[in-house]
Amino acid sequence: MMIQQNISLMPFNSFGIDVNAKYFASFSSEVELLTILKEKDQTIPESNLLLIGSGSNILFTQDFDGLVIKNEIQGMSIVHEDEEFHYVTAGAGVLWDDFVGFCIENNLGGVENLSLIPGTVGAAPIQNIGAYGVELKDVLHAVKLLDLHERQWIVFNNRDCDFGYRSSIFKKKLKGRFVITSVTCRFQKNHQTNIRYGSIKNSLIAMGVTTPTIKDVSETVNEIRRSKLPNPSEIGNAGSFFKNPVISKTEYQQLLNDYPDIVVYELDGMYKVAAGWLIDKAGWKGYREGDVGCYPKQALVLVNYGNGNGMQLLELSKKIQQSILKKFGILLEAEVNIL
Ligand SMILES: Cc1cc2nc3c(=O)[nH]c(=O)nc-3n(C[C@H](O)[C@H](O)[C@H](O)COP(=O)(O)OP(=O)(O)OC[C@H]3O[C@@H](n4cnc5c(N)ncnc54)[C@H](O)[C@@H]3O)c2cc1C
Repeated sequence: MMIQQNISLMPFNSFGIDVNAKYFASFSSEVELLTILKEKDQTIPESNLLLIGSGSNILFTQDFDGLVIKNEIQGMSIVHEDEEFHYVTAGAGVLWDDFVGFCIENNLGGVENLSLIPGTVGAAPIQNIGAYGVELKDVLHAVKLLDLHERQWIVFNNRDCDFGYRSSIFKKKLKGRFVITSVTCRFQKNHQTNIRYGSIKNSLIAMGVTTPTIKDVSETVNEIRRSKLPNPSEIGNAGSFFKNPVISKTEYQQLLNDYPDIVVYELDGMYKVAAGWLIDKAGWKGYREGDVGCYPKQALVLVNYGNGNGMQLLELSKKIQQSILKKFGILLEAEVNIL
């Protein structure tokens, strides 16, 4: 039997929350995935399903009363090349940062700004991971999927995924419908590094690097991230707990009057406000309540110092949401998947 019962999910989520899955299985190939689903149909047909990679974007607030399936499909290679691009396919269970490392080793530029993001390749399209001015959608070519309703394999191209800021079709109308088993990205042959984001540029200037290689950019991003984000193996967290809210020009101008130091980024005529700045300004940075809190070096990150539970983190996130709504009139939306 591939499906186990009553398994603690503590090792499988980066918040380190100790909840149980009623049923649990992992797969390292598409054939194993199909076998698990067949076994589920025969023995626990009514059971809910939850696909996980590294659990670095999930907050468990209670036991999962269904089947958790962990994707561990490995393997990555350059599969194709045309005049403009190299194409790399990776199994959905490959760690995202190993994928970035593979691309850098092979001198393929495009994902260096996304260095050190935890999680798996297969989860990257779900929220269209992004950092330092680059998003997965900038390089994604295709994803291979198993449709859980029809039990059929299909391929989505970039447009089919309907990517947006920390969003995709897999987070919206097709939520929970597909298992991503592999991802193909394409890498422009005449790639130009993107160092427009202030902190990368400043670090490179400080190092005296004027024409950075993709390796330089990756190392700089690693350094910046290590200096301000908690390592989940030391302090439980899931990175940014909230999305940066996007507001109109009028709303932005009103806020600017009251808060001239507000941190915003322009986004297609709208304004993306740094949620970390809002939370910090409202006085939450470094706040701690028992074993949960707001990380002292980055207010956007909620942390579990050890024995915190999912409900306590959820309660804290609600208090922060209410306080930001009251102070700035902005409703923060969770980036983390709350279960
Ligand atoms: C310290 C830290 C820093 C972070 N920094 C960033 C950042 O800079 N930018 C950013 O975008 N994110 C960031 N994150 C969030 C996280 O790394 C990403 O969301 C990552 O893509 C999650 O991958 P995962 O494998 O852990 O997914 P999980 O947490 O396991 O799953 C996330 C969601 O995807 C679904 N899912 C997972 N795998 C599959 C699959 N194969 N098929 C179908 N559905 C699937 C799950 O059901 C769930 O809904 C950070 C997290 C941490 C802990």
